[in-house]
Amino acid sequence: MEISDVDIFRYVLVFLWVVYLWETYLSYRQRTIYRNATKVPKELENVLDQETFEKARLYQLDKSNFGFWSNIYSQIESTVILLIGGLPWLWSVAGRLMDRYNYGSEYEITQSIVFTLLATIFSTITSLPWSIYSTFVIEEKHGFNKQTLGFFLKDQVKKLVVMQCIALPITASLIYIIKVGGDYFFIYVWLFTLVVSLLLITIYADYIAPLFDKFTPLPEGDLRSKIEELAASINFPLKKLYVVDGSKRSSHSNAYFYGFYKNKRIVLFDTLLQDYVAPKDDKKDDKTDNDEEQKKNEEEEGKEEESNEEKKKKKQGCNNEEVLAVLSHELGHWKLNHNLKNLVIGQINTFLCFMMFALLMNRKELFTAFGFTTQPTLIGLLIIFQFIFSPYNEVLSFCMTALSRKFEFQADDFAKTLHRANKLKSALIKLNKDNLGFPISDWLYSTWHFSHPPLIERLNALENKSD
Ligand SMILES: [Zn+2]
Repeated sequence: MEISDVDIFRYVLVFLWVVYLWETYLSYRQRTIYRNATKVPKELENVLDQETFEKARLYQLDKSNFGFWSNIYSQIESTVILLIGGLPWLWSVAGRLMDRYNYGSEYEITQSIVFTLLATIFSTITSLPWSIYSTFVIEEKHGFNKQTLGFFLKDQVKKLVVMQCIALPITASLIYIIKVGGDYFFIYVWLFTLVVSLLLITIYADYIAPLFDKFTPLPEGDLRSKIEELAASINFPLKKLYVVDGSKRSSHSNAYFYGFYKNKRIVLFDTLLQDYVAPKDDKKDDKTDNDEEQKKNEEEEGKEEESNEEKKKKKQGCNNEEVLAVLSHELGHWKLNHNLKNLVIGQINTFLCFMMFALLMNRKELFTAFGFTTQPTLIGLLIIFQFIFSPYNEVLSFCMTALSRKFEFQADDFAKTLHRANKLKSALIKLNKDNLGFPISDWLYSTWHFSHPPLIERLNALENKSD
């Protein structure tokens, strides 16, 4: 079958807009619910007060309206970039930059790195106003934001630098392997990505996450010994138990576990714990390089005291028994090998994608469709993975979302077998309140987007086989 470059370009543009219109339609359905559902649903009348419900409604409505505008913006931005040939232009800018230092186009990997850097800088700058608005207007207005602008900007720069230090060497190696790998390069590429992802999971906890947040071991006490007891009772190899200062960023709360084989760690957000007070003297260990930082720390401490007071008033977080119920759910994910299953699916997917990539990468029309006269490997990866595979990516992400909901129900069931269904129910209700989750959702919207089942469905499932 003969497919011209014009056809390919049209297909990509049309599909980009099909996805956009579909998402916009779904969000519209959900927004209509935020606008019209002004009464606490019957099932929750006894556990959710009208005031919290109304606060959640307004918060979600603001977020949804914001999403509407930011999606329009990014849709127009991507369309314009494709139409005016932004990608080949940026590629040639990277080439000209290298010319200045006497590197010709034979240095394809170097040019790919420069191109990636330029593209990252561009997207960081264009997305910055949106994330500033989201954090300092919307989250702030609804009482979630705990960051100062200084902290936020420093955090963004740090994220950018760390991400590039990781992504650029990986990109360079990937291109190299594809270039020298011969006919079966996709097997080597797949092995490479497998090793890299295992390596990243291993070093992330010890070397990357601490760059951004402070992890403090959970102090000895009732909660700690009960968690250790719980872990021991189901043979969970708990090595370390941390509290992370999520409250420095926002008052949304969470808990998770990670680590390989017999080296598991549990991390609790301080915002999850009702009675947790951060050890005070910790702050003094922080290196303060200059006055500005000192000032920022003081500001932050000021903020923290405020939020502690607020916490007392609102009583955010869960009590010990509820925290244990939440952890039982998390440990359910471990017992049922959910992470491993996700990893295996991810690996099979990567393998298939690179195999398809191997079949397509030498088709000249894919490159001319986007205005390229040469066929750089990085551009091939970008075009094929992002644009050509996008229908497949949409279907895959839908299936993974559905699978995730199934896993959530299974993990809830596991907590139930540990006789923690009732505490889990009250924890879910509290967390939903603390995070201003809205308990009503459009069925189509939630089917497409929700990685966790809606609150009422989870409560009902817990009810049915309650202990
Ligand atoms: Zn879960």
